[in-house]
Amino acid sequence: MSTIHKIAYDNRIYQKPRRALPSKVFEAYIFGMDVEWSTKIEEAQLKKNYTIDGTERERIRYGSEVDDWGADKEACHDCAVIKGQYHIPFLCDVERCPVCDEQAIGCDCNYEGDE
Ligand SMILES: [Zn+2]
Ligand SMILES: [Zn+2]
Repeated sequence: MSTIHKIAYDNRIYQKPRRALPSKVFEAYIFGMDVEWSTKIEEAQLKKNYTIDGTERERIRYGSEVDDWGADKEACHDCAVIKGQYHIPFLCDVERCPVCDEQAIGCDCNYEGDE
């Protein structure tokens, strides 16, 4: 866990958030990235398809995964979207690939426009 490491070894003292934040949001918070997370989530909703190997595929919304990631109870643990929303593309480790059902960020399929 590099995040934990960074917190431990940085001289600056970071206030740990009171509630557990989704991991990507937490990283953004810790590293002081200029990220308006709600904007990222809104933008993610505009991207409804991926083009994979030349074919358009509809993205898999949070809560529609084969595995249960707890969408009925809480926001995505990684990118903080809620049930029925699209995950933040090429960033969230929960989002499944619509072709192979592996992690969209890690699978071997050929995504066009990978950002
Ligand atoms: Zn997510
Ligand atoms: Zn894939």
